[in-house]
Amino acid sequence: MSEVEAVVGAPVETDPYRIALKQFDHAADVLELPEGMRGLLRSCKRELCVHFPVRMDDGALRTFTGYRVQHNVTRGPSKGGLRYHPQVTLEEMRALAMWMTWKCAVVDIPFGGAKGGVICNPKEMSERELEGLTRRYTTEITPLLGPASDIPAPDVYTDEQIMAWMMDTYSMHAGYTVPAVVTGKPLSIGGSAGRLEATGRGCVEVIGEAAQHFGLRLPGARVAIQGFGNAGSVAAKYLAEAGCKVVAVSDTRGAIANEAGLDVKGLIAQKSQDGTIAGFPGADSIPPADLLALDCEILVPAALEGQITAANAGGVKAKLVAEAANGPTTPEADEILHANGVTVLPDILANAGGVVCSYFEWVQCLQEFSWSEDQVCHRLSEYMRQAFHGVYRVAQERKVDMRTAALVVAMSKVAEATAVRGIYP
Ligand code: NAD
Repeated sequence: MSEVEAVVGAPVETDPYRIALKQFDHAADVLELPEGMRGLLRSCKRELCVHFPVRMDDGALRTFTGYRVQHNVTRGPSKGGLRYHPQVTLEEMRALAMWMTWKCAVVDIPFGGAKGGVICNPKEMSERELEGLTRRYTTEITPLLGPASDIPAPDVYTDEQIMAWMMDTYSMHAGYTVPAVVTGKPLSIGGSAGRLEATGRGCVEVIGEAAQHFGLRLPGARVAIQGFGNAGSVAAKYLAEAGCKVVAVSDTRGAIANEAGLDVKGLIAQKSQDGTIAGFPGADSIPPADLLALDCEILVPAALEGQITAANAGGVKAKLVAEAANGPTTPEADEILHANGVTVLPDILANAGGVVCSYFEWVQCLQEFSWSEDQVCHRLSEYMRQAFHGVYRVAQERKVDMRTAALVVAMSKVAEATAVRGIYP
C-alpha cells in the first residue's frame, strides 16, 4: 500500500483526495521539498463538518450535512467555492481546498485555499428550500467566514443567487452589509463585471497561449466539451469566437455531436430554457463516454472530477486537454496522456480565471469602487497569460509536464511564504 493509500483508506482511482495527494507527492519530489514542509503543505488546516435542519415545503424537517475546509492560509485569507451535490464528501472538499491553494499561488493572488459543500440534490429542491438551506449552512459556518478570513464563491450547482443569500445572512449577523464576504454575487450588491464569464474566458485565454506554444491553430480546431454549465458553456462561446469548431458537448442528460460544428449560441439558449443540451436540433445523440475519445484537437472536461482515467485515457485523440473542471484527470491517466504526446493544461492554471476575477471582486468591494468590464477583462487576461508563461517556463527548465510545473510554481510560493513567516510560536 502506498503512503497515499494509507492516508485515505482503500481509494478508487477517481477519489479526488487521492488524486490531489498523489499530484502533490510527485511535485514535492521534483521540488525536493523537505519532510517537515511536505507534511505541513500536505494537510488541511481546518475542517468543519456541520449537520443542520431545514424545514421542507411539505412541512417535514430534514437534516443536511455540510462542510467547509480550509487547506492553507499562509499567503492570505482562504478562498474557494461552495458546491451543492448529492456526492459531496469531506475527502472531496479536502482535495478541492488543496487545489484552490495551488491555484491562487499559480496566478499569484493573495489567497489560500478553501472549499465548502452540502450533500443535497438542488435539482429536487424548491427555491424556498434552497434559500433555507443556504442561510442555515452560512450561519453554521459563520465562525470561519469573513472578508479577511474565508470568502466563498459559486461552484457546481450554486450560483449568484446563492451567493446573495450567503452575503445577506452573514451581513444580518454582523449588523451591517459586508459585500466582500463572498464573490460571484449579483452586480446589484457588489458583484464584479465579468465574473460570470471569467472561468470560461480565462480557460480560453490559456488555450490560446498554449496553442501558440504547442503548434496548434485555433481557427478550425475541433473541440469537445464535457459539461455545459458555467465553465463549459462560456468556454464554448469564446472558443467558437476564436474560430474553433465545437463538435460535441454533454451534460448529465446526454451528449450530442455534429462534425460540422454545433451552433453554440443556440445551445446556450436551449440550455438556459430547457436545462439541457440533449435533443438539440441538427445534432446526433452520442453515448456520453464517447465524447472523451472523439476525433478533435482540443478536449475540455468541464464537469466533475475523475473523468479521464487509466481506462479511457488511451482513447483520447485530442492534442490538448484543457481542464476547465477541477481534478478531471487521474494521475494514472496523466501518465498515459503524457506518453501519448497529449498536452494537459492543468485545472489549477486552466480554470483559474474564476478565482482571479473573484479576487478583483473582493478588491473592488474592499475599496468600495467598481471597475469597468473592459478593465476586468484586460487585467484577467494579463494574469492568465503571465501564469501560463510562468508555468511553461518551469515545464521547459525542469523537463516536466504542465501539471507538475504548475504545482512546482505554486508549492514553492507557499513554501517560501511559510518559511519567511516562520513557525509560531
Ligand atoms: P455548473 O453547475 O454550472 O455546471 C456543471 C455542468 O456539468 C452541468 O452542465 C452538468 O449537467 C454537467 N455535468 C455534471 N456531471 C456530468 C457528467 N458526469 N457528464 C457530463 N456533464 C456533467 O458548474 P460549473 O461552475 O460550470 O463547474 C464545472 C466544473 O468547473 C467543476 O469541476 C468546478 O469545480 C469547475 N470550476 C468552476 C468554476 C466557476 O467559476 N464556476 C471555477 C473553477 C472551476
